[in-house]
Amino acid sequence: MMRKLITKLENNNILNKEEFVDLIENHSPDDTEFLFQRARSVREKYFGKSVFLRGLIEISNFCSNDCFYCGIRRSNKNTDRYRLSEEDILICCDEGYSLGFRTFVMQGGEDAYFKDDVLISIIKKIKSKYPDCAVTLSLGERSHESYQNLFNAGADRYLLRHETANPHHYEQLHPNWMSYEHRINCLKDLKNIGFQVGTGFMVGSPFQTVNNLAEDLLFIAVFQPQMVGIGPFIPHHATPFAEKNSGTVEQTLFMLGLLRLILPKALLPSTTALGTIDPKGREKGLLAGANVVMPNLSPVDVRKKYDIYDNKIFTGEESAQYVKNLADRIRSTGYTVDTSRGDAPDWKK
Ligand code: SAM
Repeated sequence: MMRKLITKLENNNILNKEEFVDLIENHSPDDTEFLFQRARSVREKYFGKSVFLRGLIEISNFCSNDCFYCGIRRSNKNTDRYRLSEEDILICCDEGYSLGFRTFVMQGGEDAYFKDDVLISIIKKIKSKYPDCAVTLSLGERSHESYQNLFNAGADRYLLRHETANPHHYEQLHPNWMSYEHRINCLKDLKNIGFQVGTGFMVGSPFQTVNNLAEDLLFIAVFQPQMVGIGPFIPHHATPFAEKNSGTVEQTLFMLGLLRLILPKALLPSTTALGTIDPKGREKGLLAGANVVMPNLSPVDVRKKYDIYDNKIFTGEESAQYVKNLADRIRSTGYTVDTSRGDAPDWKK
């Protein structure tokens, strides 16, 4: 029934809000299969069979923010806080480089220790040691000046999920000093400065409606980011959302398929959260249109502490040491690991 709308989306890369709502609410299993097939065809047109690897380094779980959904929010007094030193981070990069990673993603809470000069020194060291590598940052909201400084130091990409494109829903997920407007302004700053920008949202976050999901898709269609990270919401026991339900694999995969048709050339990770709620979640993500995986390069002793939601996978195949195993799993989907930097197609800095 929904094939017409899916074909229209493939042709135009956008639908109106009512059409998105209709698709999300009323698709059948056959429609889903059709969507995934179209999504794979579109991703293969631009990326062939390549799946890009990003080495994720979780540099700190200190956070001055208090997002209601997040296990490392500042009000969670039971989290064992850590931050990596410059030396720790460079060791992770050394290890990652020898494993074949050509993108390092430094992600963390909003930790005041990581002022511009601290980050500039780390970015410059990584870039001078590994000029063939991309540096991605995911360190939350900062000033325009700070983003510019980090870009000037050599950072290539920045991930900042918008979380929800509905201002009222944004308020339901965040404390009152955080604002939707500020988050969106950060994204605009990042884009204007020249970063490859990633945004995204949680699927099934508390209070999210189908209308909200349609708004997220429309926001992304208009903003045209180079990367989009989505994953299911998963509750964390020490947050106000401890009793809320997780997002589902099915809905997350459906959103991935739609995103591939909205942004044919985007880099779409099959996220750890997807792998957490379903042991085959990341393979399923690749078959629904995703083309990136981000194994964890953080030192083993801190992985457990970056617990943004319950039961996060942090050992075994999640860790970078298991890259060969991961490559086998990727091959099982018919795709292959691509060890190049994996910039957005047509990207020129
Ligand atoms: N502090 C940075 C920021 O806010 O962009 C980066 C770190 S933050 C932990 C990274 C992402 O984790 C958030 O954008 C959010 O979407 C996701 N996240 C946090 N808590 C989550 C949860 N309970 N379930 C699923 N994803 C979650």
